Amino acid sequence: MSPQKIRVAVIGGGLVGLSTALCITESLPQCLVTVISEKFSPNTTGDVAAGCLIPHTYPDTPLHQQKDWFKETFDYLFKIANSPEAAEAGVNLLSGFKRNGGFVQTRKVDNIWQLYGSFDVVMNCSGLGSRDLIGDLTVYPVRGQVLEVHAPWLTHFIRDGDGNTYIYPGITGVTLGGTKEKNDWRLSPDAETRKDILERCCDLEPSLHGVFVIQDKVGLRPTRLAVRVEKEILAKNGQQLPVIHNFGHGGGGFSIHWGTAKAATELLQDLIPSMTNASAKSKL
Ligand SMILES: Cc1cc2nc3c(=O)[nH]c(=O)nc-3n(C[C@H](O)[C@H](O)[C@H](O)COP(=O)(O)OP(=O)(O)OC[C@H]3O[C@@H](n4cnc5c(N)ncnc54)[C@H](O)[C@@H]3O)c2cc1C
Repeated sequence: MSPQKIRVAVIGGGLVGLSTALCITESLPQCLVTVISEKFSPNTTGDVAAGCLIPHTYPDTPLHQQKDWFKETFDYLFKIANSPEAAEAGVNLLSGFKRNGGFVQTRKVDNIWQLYGSFDVVMNCSGLGSRDLIGDLTVYPVRGQVLEVHAPWLTHFIRDGDGNTYIYPGITGVTLGGTKEKNDWRLSPDAETRKDILERCCDLEPSLHGVFVIQDKVGLRPTRLAVRVEKEILAKNGQQLPVIHNFGHGGGGFSIHWGTAKAATELLQDLIPSMTNASAKSKL
């Protein structure tokens, strides 16, 4: 008889949740993984980002840790970029997870304890949702507005010195940005901001004058002084719920997502012996 699987819930279907879920299914076959999320692509923060691999600073995360996460992610993406699947890389996260036997539920988790009993451990990858879900008020939004334009003649990226204005050619269009508005929760695009971004980008690249705008996009970067990758055992009325946090990637989620997914998976791996021992004892 095969041993009972460890039931893992991953809250959050953004870049961080899906990479964490995929990493677990790839490296811990004893786990049965379900991603539970209110929103999936194309409605996540990562859908707004141009997705440039660029080091981003987290003041309260040790530098060596940030470097390790960045390197893990760079090596992982470099391998994909050089593989036959490179063209579909953008959509592979969810389909790769499902192919590995993962499950998906589209719903909001109002209270993390709702998962107690149905799951043995919870991976919290809810980004800004962590404010309500676990009361972590140190994570806050940094609003980013961008435009996607039709400019296929642009094939190289251009970025100003402070990184506030950028032109990133992508597969479906060229992303023009941007803004970094701290504690601004507005998800709708602002007309004045759009004009300002276009002007700044035309100064950098005059061929953009009169360009066709495909769409405006806004995303809220889940920002924190330190990315929170850690284990917490929640306790209530004599019950315990192990939670592994992985959130607060701010403006650098693309650049470190695989590194933090691996770190969160390692924390889960460390927990497994105590969970299997507890379950064996409870059967005696
Ligand atoms: C304009 C812009 C440009 C960017 N450019 C770059 C770049 O060039 N390079 C780079 O590295 N990064 C960049 N980023 C940052 C990157 O996009 C983010 O760091 C990353 O997308 C964050 O991913 P996440 O999964 O943590 O968050 P999210 O995508 O916000 O995902 C959180 C998920 O949790 C779910 N959720 C929350 N609460 C609950 C709940 N209670 N129940 C169920 N589900 C819940 C949500 O529905 C959502 O699916 C940029 C961001 C923006 C906005």
